[in-house]
Amino acid sequence: MNENLSRYSRQIIFPPIGEAGQRRLLEAHVTLIGVGATGSILADRLARAGIGHLRLVDRDFVELNNLQRQLIYDEDDVAAMLPKAIAMARKLRRINSTIAIEEIVADVNPTNILELIADADVVVEGTDNFATRYLINDACVKLGKPWIYTGVVASYGMTMTIRPGITPCLRCVMGELPAPGAAPTCDTAGIIGPIVSLMGSITVAEALKLLLGRGTLNDGMIHVDLWENTFEQFTLGGPRPDCPTCGRREFAFLNAEAGTRLTALCGRDAVQVNVAGAPAINLAALGERLAAAQVGQVQVNPYLLRARIEGFDFTVFPDGRAIIKGTNDEATAATLYARYVGV
Ligand SMILES: [Zn+2]
Repeated sequence: MNENLSRYSRQIIFPPIGEAGQRRLLEAHVTLIGVGATGSILADRLARAGIGHLRLVDRDFVELNNLQRQLIYDEDDVAAMLPKAIAMARKLRRINSTIAIEEIVADVNPTNILELIADADVVVEGTDNFATRYLINDACVKLGKPWIYTGVVASYGMTMTIRPGITPCLRCVMGELPAPGAAPTCDTAGIIGPIVSLMGSITVAEALKLLLGRGTLNDGMIHVDLWENTFEQFTLGGPRPDCPTCGRREFAFLNAEAGTRLTALCGRDAVQVNVAGAPAINLAALGERLAAAQVGQVQVNPYLLRARIEGFDFTVFPDGRAIIKGTNDEATAATLYARYVGV
């Protein structure tokens, strides 16, 4: 076995993978959207398994209350104000320097999703909201790419391996997008770490099987509750012919209007302001402008600007996106953004 493969010797000994399978994994492209709790498990295991091309996309930064369940991050990342995608890529390169890791700090939206998944063999996600998942579903169905849904909250989780045209898609099973606040989230219902590790591990196993074309895939839904000790697998049948997404191919989420998008970040007392197509922001210059105006405390690193103004916490990224903490009100956030960041 050559040197490049020897680090994978224990999974090469596993007959369904073998040396040929390992070479296939090293050629594979996986896009991972969202590197929070579930995303930490996915990224770590995919990198260690030798997925050759790993693209990490995340819009957020590391906070202290993430460390309870987001296994890859530590207090240094919080102190350095690092975006999660940046911090994750740094850690993964220390774990496996032989694979290609591409980190992208961005909000996944209709303007960029197709590009982000275009070369992916499999798409996996560790997002915390259904709007993004429905967008991923639209894009993957449109391009005919397999993707794996992983949802975790409180002590339970569920996962579906979606193969367009073969299995039901997310819309087939879940119907319309749940109303904001209708579904429990880890901000409202809490979350325990073990369920994250378990569901993430199931997803990685599914990704390996998809990439290798071997093994028995989850064609329905796996639902586990670790507090109640229930382990269930539901069959869901085939794709629904009347499904707006995979049946009628309407792609409502992918075709949504671009422009300024305000997103209340559920349960976080924060609103994201996203201005698609805006020119890049010079964070250092913005920092100097805010400091000169003496509006509040300002900190800048190469990845983001942090400012506390009028009792709100502003985090501004080079692409013009901002997360404003201290309000759930989109109009307030839009006003604050226009006043201090401007476009
Ligand atoms: Zn469908």
